[in-house]
Amino acid sequence: MRKSKAILFLGILATLISCARLTDTSTTKLYVFDCGEITVKDISLFSPGVDLGVTKKLTNSCYLIVHPKGNLLWDTGLSDQLISSTEGVTVGAGMFHLQVKKTLISQLKKINLTPNDIDYVALSHLHFDHTGNLNLFKKAKVLIQREELKAAFSNKAKQYHFDPSSYAEIDRANFQEVEAIYDIFGDSSVVIHAAKGHTPGHQVLLVNLRNEGPIVLSGDLFHFEKNRDHKRIPALNFDKHQSLEAINRIEKLIIEKKAKLWIQHDIDQNLTIRHAPNYYY
Ligand SMILES: [Zn+2]
Repeated sequence: MRKSKAILFLGILATLISCARLTDTSTTKLYVFDCGEITVKDISLFSPGVDLGVTKKLTNSCYLIVHPKGNLLWDTGLSDQLISSTEGVTVGAGMFHLQVKKTLISQLKKINLTPNDIDYVALSHLHFDHTGNLNLFKKAKVLIQREELKAAFSNKAKQYHFDPSSYAEIDRANFQEVEAIYDIFGDSSVVIHAAKGHTPGHQVLLVNLRNEGPIVLSGDLFHFEKNRDHKRIPALNFDKHQSLEAINRIEKLIIEKKAKLWIQHDIDQNLTIRHAPNYYY
């Protein structure tokens, strides 16, 4: 009798441990991928009236969050197809030179993942440098703000500088609209915050890591540190007033959470960040 009670107790204990493991966010990992480079011919496009005619190189980053409840890709970068142009390509009437030196697929492969292993893709917004590889992730739920989704399938998509061909192969039913703040896994470890203004439904991502602490992935809230310092709004932003509101609110969130801000296009900051196959946890 005593023995059977002990077995029962051990059984309950094992169940509790395995349940705890399922919801344990301590194993959440964050990988950073090199998703291309963008050389901007005149950077004053992003900082009106400042650095006129100055050429500046921007990095383009994508991120993978490996959570016990699923794999989430944040932004998909420039298209992997650009790797075939060894010198890169120039677009936007000569304003942008784009280059991809490593494909996203190859970087996923290095950590033993394929596009089919990605459960969620969350996009900061639908500009081509963030949606370049979206069509590869046909099985994933695509999380974007309601306004971004509406704009994407309206006849104004191109007016917002979206490239509809970059999401044409994604089943409409796989898009999941989110509103304002959205806690993806329900445990506060990975949370979307709307930060509208760059586009109608631009958003940023707050990732809480056990060791590294909270990190905000910027999307295009800022393109580089200097614009953050001076709260400069790019001329191509959809709404300047909304952009400023978003900057102020996210900066407040960063202070509140004691979070780091990783600026996805900032080349100097990017040099200080470990890339895959290394990861943060
Ligand atoms: Zn961008």
